Amino acid sequence: MRYLSTRAASSDAASSKSFCDILLGGLAPDGGLYLPESYPQVTRAELDAWRGLSYADLAFAVLSKFIDDIPADDLKALVKRTYTAETYAYVRGGGDAAEITPLRWLEPGLGILELSNGPTLAFKDMAMQLLGALFEYVLAKRGEEINILGATSGDTGSAAEYAMRGKKGVRVFMLSPAGRMSDFQRAQMYSLQDENIHNIAVRGTFDDAQDIVKAVSNDAGFKAKYRIGAVNSINWARVVAQIVYYFKGYFAATQSNDEKVAFAVPSGNFGNICAGHIARQMGLPIARLVLATNENDVLDEFFHSGAYRPRSAADTHATSSPSMDISKASNFERFVYDLVGRDPAVVRKLWAEVDAGRGFDLAATDYFARIPGFGFVSGSSTHANRLATIRDTFEQYGVVVDPHTADGLKVAAEFREAGVPMIVLETAQPAKFEATIFEAFGRLPERPRALVGIEQLPQRVETLDVDVQAVKDFVARHVEA
Ligand SMILES: *Cc1c(COP(=O)(O)O)cnc(C)c1O
Repeated sequence: MRYLSTRAASSDAASSKSFCDILLGGLAPDGGLYLPESYPQVTRAELDAWRGLSYADLAFAVLSKFIDDIPADDLKALVKRTYTAETYAYVRGGGDAAEITPLRWLEPGLGILELSNGPTLAFKDMAMQLLGALFEYVLAKRGEEINILGATSGDTGSAAEYAMRGKKGVRVFMLSPAGRMSDFQRAQMYSLQDENIHNIAVRGTFDDAQDIVKAVSNDAGFKAKYRIGAVNSINWARVVAQIVYYFKGYFAATQSNDEKVAFAVPSGNFGNICAGHIARQMGLPIARLVLATNENDVLDEFFHSGAYRPRSAADTHATSSPSMDISKASNFERFVYDLVGRDPAVVRKLWAEVDAGRGFDLAATDYFARIPGFGFVSGSSTHANRLATIRDTFEQYGVVVDPHTADGLKVAAEFREAGVPMIVLETAQPAKFEATIFEAFGRLPERPRALVGIEQLPQRVETLDVDVQAVKDFVARHVEA
């Protein structure tokens, strides 16, 4: 299996890479994103054989189609260590942790696929935990180390820290805006005592923190000397790990492989739903992929009008489903590459516009007419929709959903079809967003017992000014020591 950039100058084998080659990197050198040169296909016989597999065995079967440069026994052992009931222990309502991603039916034909039973209560654990195991494995093989530098407003940073804690060859330096996360989010990250995890609170905003990360990464000398890496959502291994639960959800919702299902996906950077798109391209019987946005509706606008108009940071709304507050969807280029017939010249032209701060409009092209063939539909939500959905879901089914999953449920309702189960992907547990749940119906969500009182644990964090040099000095001190 070889990987090519969506902007590759030519599709010759010379520029292609193996899975382990692209694992530790981010963007391709030409600014594009990596994709397999073609999507592996799943036969009917394979689907029949996969139906009864455990999550870990299914993950091994799916990942084996994309990874051919890790010996099968090693990959299998690594996957088995990653997807355990102990790691995905925070099931609710009598769910079975051994399922890893249990499907909870709300009513016939409408289910929630629980993806947030991992250590940080958000679906990002599903991929990040695998990434941690893969990083450790590949770095050990190569005798290398990596220092992951990132900025977080909450979910991604904590998922990365819990995935990388205690991993040999990996250090994490995670910047967060001082005083701007919830007490719970702060406690989750700062209470980690692992020596390879470094929390840096910056006296500024999330954007300030992100700017520092960019400035450090743009210093090529520093980056090389201190082996700086990232784990952002364009990382191919994160996308591929997410493909697995579309298969798992499909098998859980159906009796036979003659049936079809629809998935509704709360979306921000288009990473989660991109994995669904790839599962469908592989031959998983997905009737529809329902993309749900919040008030930041740049993707919903595209699927309705054909115009992709990324907003500026200043025009991005701060909403009550904050993990979907994006103005530019970093994985969207992967889908558009497929939409334009995998022609890198077209992608280069379109993203020259995006990178210049404009956008593009496909309405008048026949590319736009191809969208239904890819199964995509979309919708968006407001704060009022979100609160009403949280309230109604509790009243009708006795189930409390988080604000992001509520966005998925709201849009899912607009696209239900008789005979096609609708599976809404749950992207976080309500315990992570107490204030919005309280606003919706005057009660606090239940918190997993193991996390009660986490705010009282001792915290380990260094607070720094918004100062690139101070962050560089901090990294240098801890890498050389
Ligand atoms: C990251 C995140 C999303 C958005 O997922 P994308 O892969 O960026 O589309 C939605 N909900 C929650 C809770 C998240 O953490």
